[in-house]
Amino acid sequence: MDVGNNLKKTKSTFSGYNSQLIAVSKTYPPDFVMEAYETGHRAFGENKVQELVHKHEVLPKDIEWHFIGHLQTNKVKYIAPFIHLIHSVDSMKLLKEINKEGKKNNRVINCLLQMYIAKEETKFGLSGEEVKDILESPQFKEMNNIKILGVMGMATNTENKTVVAEEFKTLKYAFDEFKESYSASNIDFKEISMGMSSDYNIALKEGSTMVRIGSAIFGARQY
Ligand SMILES: *Cc1c(COP(=O)(O)O)cnc(C)c1O
Repeated sequence: MDVGNNLKKTKSTFSGYNSQLIAVSKTYPPDFVMEAYETGHRAFGENKVQELVHKHEVLPKDIEWHFIGHLQTNKVKYIAPFIHLIHSVDSMKLLKEINKEGKKNNRVINCLLQMYIAKEETKFGLSGEEVKDILESPQFKEMNNIKILGVMGMATNTENKTVVAEEFKTLKYAFDEFKESYSASNIDFKEISMGMSSDYNIALKEGSTMVRIGSAIFGARQY
């Protein structure tokens, strides 16, 4: 596995698009992360708190860690001191907890609201109405230790490119609507996190600003 080479190849397909690559290092050992790090890459994504905390401990401190998995409220405290961006905020309860831990750590924690765009039952995420309820709630307006930078979504796992493109379009459309409708000191709508190894080419065309790529860089995962 040549991580450096895979990373370079993947990045070359991004030219012409204004999107950031998050290298998803979940399940891979820290030395895989180091291989990418040594080529100059700094943005990495993880989906399990324990694994992320361990990697944060043993790896260089200038890595920007992105949390992309389902986050339980009782685990926010472990990542609050250092997390760069939480992509997967899917409830008001979680957002409240992130704000509380942000305050304790004297920092503002960047968040994306994860939206449900896939036809599959298994995916976490908020509906458009739920996002609006959050952004319009009085409680939200008082949260000074979080900042909402945009939205995240996962498309259906299918070969059908039309379906995937439609789902990404839905996310982009929702993003545009929120960006136009809401402004507050804790809102700065600028990121659309969409696209993984299998569908990032479609996501880039549909306006993704962050793609989360694991296996195309690090190889097939072994659980
Ligand atoms: C694992 C994961 C990815 C990366 O998946 P690959 O298919 O390996 O690129 C992206 N986003 C989320 C939320 C993930 O859990």
